[in-house]
Amino acid sequence: MSGRPVVVVGAGLAGLACAGRLRSQGIPVVVLEAGDAVGGRVRTDLVDGFTIDRGFQVLNTAYPALRHVDLDRLDLRSLPRGIRLRRGGRLADVRHPLESPGAAYRAMTSRAASLGEKAALARYATGLLTASPASIKARPDIETREAWAQAVPDGVADSLLLPFLSGVVLEPEITTSRVFTELMMRLFARGASAVPAAGMQALPELLAGHLPAGTVRLEAPVSEVHRDAVVLRDGTVVDASAVVVATDAWMAHLLLPELGRPPAARGVTTYYFAAEPWRRSNPLLTVDADGSGVTNTVVLTASAPEYSTDGRALIATSVLRGQDGPVLTAAAARTAPAELQEAPGDEWELIATRDIERALPAMTAPHQLRKPVHLTRCGVWVAGDHRDTSSIQGALVSGNRAASSVLAGLAALGRPSTVDGPAPSAPETTELRGPATP
Ligand SMILES: Cc1cc2nc3c(=O)[nH]c(=O)nc-3n(C[C@H](O)[C@H](O)[C@H](O)COP(=O)(O)OP(=O)(O)OC[C@H]3O[C@@H](n4cnc5c(N)ncnc54)[C@H](O)[C@@H]3O)c2cc1C
Repeated sequence: MSGRPVVVVGAGLAGLACAGRLRSQGIPVVVLEAGDAVGGRVRTDLVDGFTIDRGFQVLNTAYPALRHVDLDRLDLRSLPRGIRLRRGGRLADVRHPLESPGAAYRAMTSRAASLGEKAALARYATGLLTASPASIKARPDIETREAWAQAVPDGVADSLLLPFLSGVVLEPEITTSRVFTELMMRLFARGASAVPAAGMQALPELLAGHLPAGTVRLEAPVSEVHRDAVVLRDGTVVDASAVVVATDAWMAHLLLPELGRPPAARGVTTYYFAAEPWRRSNPLLTVDADGSGVTNTVVLTASAPEYSTDGRALIATSVLRGQDGPVLTAAAARTAPAELQEAPGDEWELIATRDIERALPAMTAPHQLRKPVHLTRCGVWVAGDHRDTSSIQGALVSGNRAASSVLAGLAALGRPSTVDGPAPSAPETTELRGPATP
């Protein structure tokens, strides 16, 4: 490797996307990761023969940033589209309301929603399905809850939209940016929610696999960042042609005070249970409008049988996390979803708990969809979901944006020190450019 490398701090999706883009342009890169594996918030453990993601999460195959990823290599297992909803003590299967305008109307039983509610939902769904991303972004960004108040009756907002979306934005009031939730709902309608057969960590591992051996250095926590070097916690100095901080928002704000105050954190706790398969098991993501405290529960093995090696079902039940911890204990989280799943819950075995205090940076309205990735005062670049949107899509986009901006910066300095690949392509003229969706 000739010349100093670009140093990327953090091997989450943003850091790996950034490193991959830079390397594809022939730029030498080193990725310094504090943890013992790549992936950041997208990690998977094997526990007693079960595949346990660090919190229930899925990737959406319609995320535009995934078009650079060879999804075939992930051996994806898709969850069925739609949700199972409990409302007023009754369970109803509801096709994704945005899959087609009439889907929710047809699927909801007459007692799950009134005619007026169904019509309002169909209108709302049609509006989103036919809207372009540009038109969604063009309207003022307000809290999603407020937008619903203008568009659908309270019953639809509280009993259908909120129970589903609170599991996406990890907050119960849905004060999250309308622009983000509407763009996300469009993508849900267009793609499938899926997990790799080997667990979610297969995604970052695939990205890391494209980097030359030795590019990612694990267990290398960075404690200081400068424009031309970083200092590891053990005092080692690593010189750099440019530095990209691709940590989570809260660490980035510690390393780079120029970022100002960090965003609030949204937390979630996922309990993983094993159970013998039961007759009425339903593969849909199940949400509850009846206030059990369960955000969502899903029989993962119904879609990804590889998540279990002993034939038992693996159930992931997520509950929101407040400052004082999860809103439901494991014991309560066993009973409620068993009812929701129509299963004999007393026989469920708790396999693992993943309690994640900082799962997502909050995106309260108005949310800036493209935050700058080059901090001009300190001369350091920054990537991560907190620069775009709190999602896999946002993390990947931020990494690509940061890489484009670094390429432009190096080219402007006249020192695009390449390894053996081509010289950097023409730099993007603005660091705020990126795919049109979140
Ligand atoms: C439970 C849960 C469920 C989710 N569900 C979904 C979902 O269904 N769909 C979706 O699109 N998104 C989901 N997300 C969000 C998505 O996972 C994140 O937005 C995305 O992974 C963030 O990637 P990142 O690279 O920006 O940050 P991170 O993944 O946080 O990566 C940052 C990396 O930096 C490293 N690091 C931190 N400090 C240092 C340091 N000082 N030195 C060196 N390295 C350091 C960390 O160890 C980490 O590897 C979910 C997240 C969680 C936690």
